[in-house]
Amino acid sequence: MSKIAFIGLGNMGGGMAANLAKAGHEVRAFDLSAEATTRAQGNGCAIFPTVREAVQGAAAVVSMLPNGKIVESVYTGEVIGHAPAAALLLDCSTIDVATARKVEDAARTSGYEMVDAPVSGGIAAANGGTLTFMVGGSGAAFAKAEPILAAMGKAVIHAGEPGAGQAAKICNNMILGATMIATCESFALAEKLGLDLQTFYDISSKASGQSWSMTSYCPVPGIGPSSPADNGYQGGFAAALMLKDLKLAMEAAQGAGAQVPMGARAAELYAAFTAAGGGGTDFSGIIKTL
Ligand code: NAD
Repeated sequence: MSKIAFIGLGNMGGGMAANLAKAGHEVRAFDLSAEATTRAQGNGCAIFPTVREAVQGAAAVVSMLPNGKIVESVYTGEVIGHAPAAALLLDCSTIDVATARKVEDAARTSGYEMVDAPVSGGIAAANGGTLTFMVGGSGAAFAKAEPILAAMGKAVIHAGEPGAGQAAKICNNMILGATMIATCESFALAEKLGLDLQTFYDISSKASGQSWSMTSYCPVPGIGPSSPADNGYQGGFAAALMLKDLKLAMEAAQGAGAQVPMGARAAELYAAFTAAGGGGTDFSGIIKTL
């Protein structure tokens, strides 16, 4: 087992670092928040006062941070040139494709191998070690990253070259945002047309309207498998994070010259929902506005 530095012990990173420790790795952790480090210490991680100290002697550095700006400043300021040159760098945060590529380029120029490895799955999956990782990087870097990520997830998929993990993540979540709204709208319309909602679910879940948003995460309470709708839209995947991912998708689409009218509308609707105070609730709660 190896020495792994872990930076960013929040809602997601806290559980991920704990799972690395549980798998027998020596986890050298850092976060700006004392609450987060105390929790990580209780979960078997050793806490260091700075990133530079945490990465000393590490065979790998894993990060789970809020956004691209922070990822760039942590890697260029405190990891690159401070971690051993042989250390594999793995950023699991959800960030924009351009920054992911820029940071990987800076790492490679300094002799490091780096992957972008954003995740699908929320806090429960991070705690339970059942995340799905989509990984961008060279084949050699992926081969080294796979066993480390496997200790925190149920699936580790090579998406392609550097930045491809982030590209897969935002394209996936653009489908999710749009299909969730479409599912919510259809249930709202079905109700207004006098359909029994369970009956509509029984039909549509076996017909061409079926999607993950409907059959794994139904936004209507009491219908389909248990979901945040059954819990007052608490927990799950916050609408503010869905909005973050949709904004990243819009940015990427603009840069690539892609037409994304449905994604753009989903971003507008989640922006309005968040502005009206819904940002902290699960993203399926947008049904309440329809
Ligand atoms: P969070 O805000 O709970 O955690 C982020 C942590 O980073 C915090 O503990 C914060 O103190 C720490 N941090 C910030 N700046 C730092 C710095 N310079 N050095 C060290 N630590 C620093 O966020 P989260 O929900 O854990 O999300 C982390 C990432 O995972 C985000 O990119 C998010 O988009 C992505 N993500 C989240 C979810 C989810 O359901 N929460 C799902 C998939 C992906």
